[in-house]
Amino acid sequence: MIDASLLQEYAELLVRTGMNLQEGQPLVVACQVENAPFARMVATEAYKQGCREVIMRWSDDFLTREKYLKAADAVFDETPAWLVEFFEEYDRHHAAYLALISPDPENLSGVDPMRLQRAAISSGKATRAHSKRQMSDEIPWCVAGVPSVKWAKKVFPDLSEEEAVDALWQAILKTVRVDGIHSAADAWEEHIKKLSSVAEKLNGYQFEKLHYENSLGTDLMVGLCKNHRWEGGCSKDGNGVRFVANMPTEEIFTSPKKDAVDGVVYASMPLCHHGSLIEELKFVLKAGKIVEATAKSGEEVLKKAITVDEGASYLGEAALVPYDSPISNLGILFYNTLYDENAACHFAFGQAYPCLQNASSMSEEEQREAGLNESDTHVDFMIGTKDLSVTGILPDGTRIPVMREGNFVI
Ligand code: ZN
Ligand code: ZN
Repeated sequence: MIDASLLQEYAELLVRTGMNLQEGQPLVVACQVENAPFARMVATEAYKQGCREVIMRWSDDFLTREKYLKAADAVFDETPAWLVEFFEEYDRHHAAYLALISPDPENLSGVDPMRLQRAAISSGKATRAHSKRQMSDEIPWCVAGVPSVKWAKKVFPDLSEEEAVDALWQAILKTVRVDGIHSAADAWEEHIKKLSSVAEKLNGYQFEKLHYENSLGTDLMVGLCKNHRWEGGCSKDGNGVRFVANMPTEEIFTSPKKDAVDGVVYASMPLCHHGSLIEELKFVLKAGKIVEATAKSGEEVLKKAITVDEGASYLGEAALVPYDSPISNLGILFYNTLYDENAACHFAFGQAYPCLQNASSMSEEEQREAGLNESDTHVDFMIGTKDLSVTGILPDGTRIPVMREGNFVI
């Protein structure tokens, strides 16, 4: 059994450092019913911090799967008005959003990919305005993991259910620096400082392109937007309040220039998308567009994912993560992006984060012209390896090593 005091410290960390919940602010928590005990700890901590109200959005993997298999077909094209209004209402109150995820990577395997795609399109429409506010950090949000039995058994198949859940808790707590000895909150302050300093160095260079190469066969040129910004660690919401959107986070990221990515890229880890596992993914890109997408397994799901809309076949994120990050040193495949993306350099196809200087004062049109991709989807895929090299290219052609052997050399 995991010591309750460690879970308590994790709950505090999410409320105080993660969302940095302010007095009188509502908190919307998404959580699986299986993890109600931990959600209760978070809610109690939130009220202690002066939360106005904790609003729960419960879900259940069993019911989600039942719905995809058995619900009336028309359901998957519906955009419920109440859902739109739900987010509008709480965004107006400047609520903080916490997603406690416990993803079973195989929950939706065997489900009709068309149903998944149609549901992604209609829910994308329903939550479009809210997602924009979230991705531009207008409202504070945080994503963090909590083990479920199925997820734990996927990660640790040889352990009993109880042992697997304990082992996954231990791994999760390590990734968020809760060790029961040092203060996790203090460790996060130091970590955030370090990430910011690498981001600032890269911002100083203003590379025109990054060149990625490794022995898997990746050979990709990624153009960056003019006046791009590298970000990492923490964000500031519309009121200027700091929050940490992903716990854990080890990445420094920016937005690629939509039409300036060329070459071949191979994934270095399986990608778990909508409950299906996509293995040995390979993309060929021309003038930014994914013109060839193949995978050893899950290829059909992958092809659907990059055709949800026009922007889904262009990149929206380039993130650098040292190969020697605490998460990759654990050597565990979590089958989930929140963890696995922080173990390796990655890209995402779909919506770009507005990582531009003065992004907040730019219109959507201006952001588009600057080269930011637009889509209702955003899917990370891992490409970092032990032998990855990333080279920054300045407008005059000068090549500056950014990463060698998977780690920062800048
Ligand atoms: Zn990322
Ligand atoms: Zn991402």
